[in-house]
Amino acid sequence: MKKTRIAPTPSGFLHKGNRFNAEWISNWAKLAGASIRLRIDDIDRSRFRNAYLEDIFERLKEWEIEWQEGPRNCQDFFQNHSQHHKLERYRRALGLIGGDSYVCSCSRKDIEGADWGKGCPRHCEENNMEFSVGKTALRVRIPGGLEAWTRPDGTPESIDLGMHPMHPVVWTREGLPAYHWVSILDDIDHEISDVWRGADLLESTGIQRQLARLAGLDGFETIRFGHHALITDTEGRKLSKSVLSGNQ
Ligand SMILES: [Zn+2]
Repeated sequence: MKKTRIAPTPSGFLHKGNRFNAEWISNWAKLAGASIRLRIDDIDRSRFRNAYLEDIFERLKEWEIEWQEGPRNCQDFFQNHSQHHKLERYRRALGLIGGDSYVCSCSRKDIEGADWGKGCPRHCEENNMEFSVGKTALRVRIPGGLEAWTRPDGTPESIDLGMHPMHPVVWTREGLPAYHWVSILDDIDHEISDVWRGADLLESTGIQRQLARLAGLDGFETIRFGHHALITDTEGRKLSKSVLSGNQ
């Protein structure tokens, strides 16, 4: 049976773009006979607010979006579904990546506009550092190049990640699993078969597929990913939480 997911983040109030995505997924699921899982991405709690979490349940109800798996309300979410319950799972899975990961102490400023042809700007790969919360992140050397897959509607889609792609972080400086890593493992653990996301995540899909392949996570290879256009406001800006609430 096909299964897709809606994956909002409680770091701001939901907006028109989230509504478009949720309705798109809901409509597709009805046509495809797929079930829907609600997954709330709360691994990064730096902008988390209870009001944002409550807003997710209220808006989905208002928009008449139904889901069959995942949290039913805030209490159920905290008790059974917070990604923080799965920290050990995310951490243990790092062992699957093996020799393609390295500890990196480069700052955000170091990374800006860097040429990744010889690895990260400070060449941390050669230094064999110990991971240290607050000081280092764990990165993975992905191969880059053209990454192609099949959309839920059966048509092909691809992204060229370039010859020297930035090495994505899988474990952050804050000592938490990074978005890509959490998303890969959750999609596998929830047995998701089809994902619809905004076109701004096209590169993320390519990165996640390469990361999962390096880790030998076969369950990810067969997931179909499709990217829909983004809703824009009257000035043509992408509608995001930064525009609407000053966050992110
Ligand atoms: Zn580095």
